[in-house]
Amino acid sequence: MPYSKDTVERAKAIIRSRRDKAISDWEAHIKQINRSLPEAAEIDARIRETGMRIYRAVVSGTGESVDEIKKESTALTRELRAVLKKNGYPENYLDVNYTCPVCSDTGYRGTKTCGCLKEALAEVEFESSGLAKLALTQSFDTFDLSFYTGGDRSMMQTNRDMLLSFADNFGERRGESWLLIGATGLGKTHLSTSVAVKVIKAGYSVVYDSVDRIIAAFEERRFGGDYTSGSERKYTECDLLIIDDLGTELCNQFTVSCLYKVINDRLVNGLSTIINTNLSQEELRDRYTDRIASRLFGEYMPLLFYGTDVRRLKIARR
Ligand SMILES: [Zn+2]
Repeated sequence: MPYSKDTVERAKAIIRSRRDKAISDWEAHIKQINRSLPEAAEIDARIRETGMRIYRAVVSGTGESVDEIKKESTALTRELRAVLKKNGYPENYLDVNYTCPVCSDTGYRGTKTCGCLKEALAEVEFESSGLAKLALTQSFDTFDLSFYTGGDRSMMQTNRDMLLSFADNFGERRGESWLLIGATGLGKTHLSTSVAVKVIKAGYSVVYDSVDRIIAAFEERRFGGDYTSGSERKYTECDLLIIDDLGTELCNQFTVSCLYKVINDRLVNGLSTIINTNLSQEELRDRYTDRIASRLFGEYMPLLFYGTDVRRLKIARR
């Protein structure tokens, strides 16, 4: 599943509103110039006339040279800019000032998606992914290995490199899943967030959430919540799901069966999951059923995080 329909609609609406704004600004400028600077308004009218003449020359063959009309138009534009400037207006006051001149705020170049729409899509997806704004500053580049020493550092470097390579090649490696094991404050969240940001930018749907919120979505359905909203479906259908802090939730038969459904559905459908936990393998096995443990240990790539709490080190360094 690429971006959801909702994400696409919202991104297109952003581009559409930019275009609407550019055009209404332009219309307001024309009105203003018609009122206060007739000299410029007249040149502007002649420029538009050249457009019509080119159209007629091409379509009905009026015999006029298109090149000649274009030259005339360029000269008029230069004149218009000079008049505007002389009277204290910006030279481009009568241009339509699109946010993206490449596609004139349509979002498309021919049949191709313009870069501006891709950016808007990533932005909207980022907002709906559950990642905090703060996450934008967390990237592989800002992952500081100097907080780790000795063997910890080389292990962390391996962890970073493996996740970076996964994120960079998500298209081909979709379906791989990771289990990030280690105490709080060792960079599990930082690295999994860095993966999320890259994967979103590459055009995939990502959801980042705690176990509690995932369970809450299933609970809502269980207690007769809105069946059509399917808010729990994003957890089983997004391209990449990141479950933060597995092991901190209330554990009962219901939560375990929800968790099993999410983990198993995603494996069956070939979708990637990253799980962060500070439970050891033994604790995971004790806490969850064998059904879950066998999925996690059989199908997920485990990465161990060792070291001293990086968050505390960072504060100490300030
Ligand atoms: Zn564009």
